Amino acid sequence: KEKLFKSREGLFGTLKSFILGRNVIDDEMYEELEDILVQSDIGMNMTVKIVEALEKEVKKRGIRDPKEVYPVLKEVMAGFLITEGNDIKIEDGKLNVILVVGVNGVGKTTTIGKLAARYKKEGKKVILGAADTFRAAAIEQLEEWAKRSGTDIVKGVQGADPGAVVYDTLEAAHTRGADIAIIDTAGRLHNKNNLMQELEKIHNIIRKKLGNQNYESILVIDGTTGQNALTQAKVFNEVTDLTGFIITKLDGTAKGGIVFSISEELKKPIKFIGVGEKIEDLRKFDAKEYIQAIFD
Ligand code: GDP
Repeated sequence: KEKLFKSREGLFGTLKSFILGRNVIDDEMYEELEDILVQSDIGMNMTVKIVEALEKEVKKRGIRDPKEVYPVLKEVMAGFLITEGNDIKIEDGKLNVILVVGVNGVGKTTTIGKLAARYKKEGKKVILGAADTFRAAAIEQLEEWAKRSGTDIVKGVQGADPGAVVYDTLEAAHTRGADIAIIDTAGRLHNKNNLMQELEKIHNIIRKKLGNQNYESILVIDGTTGQNALTQAKVFNEVTDLTGFIITKLDGTAKGGIVFSISEELKKPIKFIGVGEKIEDLRKFDAKEYIQAIFD
């Protein structure tokens, strides 16, 4: 079996040995379980929901043996993962736009490169828009990914109006008959108000062109950052009306609890996960498969 997630050894390894090592089901077990979940970045709210649901199920089923608790926990946690809408919808014969937002360093540019390569491989014509005009390095980095994935790129000079770059990208996409435009955006949080205004403008430019059809607004989250990600998600959601998430760096964390809290708290699905730095290290997020991979 492919070892994609460190969480399997970390969080879920601990959970399994903890539960199987118990002799009785009591309050102490539930309390210790809470501690393990919180330490794994699941967050207090989500942890309380999980443990309450577990306790209820265990009582309802009249379970006495701690060994039988583990499969119930698996069921309960799976129930909190949103499975609906976790595909990025790509409609043939139309322009589909994917706006990618997130703070610097989370893996936005890398993820765009991975997405571009993936769609290119499926035979789609992809065009990238370098709307992070704040840093010259960001434009260069996206160009590098455009080369690597064999896709077109539209860019402006450093400091250019990001809205104009987005507009030009959509125009070029139409002219060249592209199937998919993927837009990179800035992620500097030290100037949050500016950034949010900029993103709102971009969001409106795309919506004016497409409406809400064939338009995905995706937040990239670093899977190793913990509960901070929830705050980020709320802020970005307010301006760009997110349609879902991509969680990166799940290969590098033994926690991975953010997968459970993010979609439940925001009521939006996880679309893809990043499991490495290479161009092919992007997986469609499949809740069942994920649960299977980490629990068994
Ligand atoms: P950006 O600032 O959000 O555009 O982030 P970058 O795309 O530049 O990525 C920041 C760092 O994270 C780079 O070193 C990437 O190689 C790394 N990275 C991105 N995605 C993943 C992933 O899924 N797993 C691992 N291990 N590293 C990743």
